[in-house]
Amino acid sequence: MSRTKSSDRSPAKTRTNTSPEGDRLVPLFEELAAIYREVDASFAGQSCPASTECCRFGVTGREPYVTSIELALVQRAIAARGGARAIGRTPPPLAGHEDNSRGKRRLTTLDERVCPLLDERGRCAIYTSRPFGCRTYFCERATGTAGVDQRGINAFVRRIKDLAARHAPEGDLGRPLTRALAGASSSSGSGPRRRR
Ligand code: SF4
Repeated sequence: MSRTKSSDRSPAKTRTNTSPEGDRLVPLFEELAAIYREVDASFAGQSCPASTECCRFGVTGREPYVTSIELALVQRAIAARGGARAIGRTPPPLAGHEDNSRGKRRLTTLDERVCPLLDERGRCAIYTSRPFGCRTYFCERATGTAGVDQRGINAFVRRIKDLAARHAPEGDLGRPLTRALAGASSSSGSGPRRRR
């Protein structure tokens, strides 16, 4: 997830929002962007085959968790792309992944639980705003991960959680990305919903 190809070419910079809520978020987004820059610099030596496997949670059995402030940044990036409907169709399933319990049936995109933010070209639609968990997932094919320091990762997590706690009550309690997006969708009516 750290290097999923991007279709989001705009930098993760803050944009002035004239609403009081938007004004309140600007400094928090700036702090989060600064942390993300540090994270990316810390892991700059790692390679990524950009297979998009890590954006298919049914394949990896893992899903990134997001705090409230990370989700707010993702939602802003989705809006900047023209909304969830503009992200496009779900990419095709990966080759070489089979369900052995069902006679080696090839997995469908539904089985793969593809992240709703992965577009039909296999690119992350909100790449520069992707959550911390996406920036620090290294699959077994990644190289240069020997120096990844778990204490360093934990320190970044603490900083992001502190920021999230300032953003919203209990905002630091991370939730799986898909569940957080679905919750945001049901409350705003504008979350990721797309064609397959
Ligand atoms: S937000 Fe979704 S598509 Fe983007 S890197 Fe993370 S898992 Fe992949």
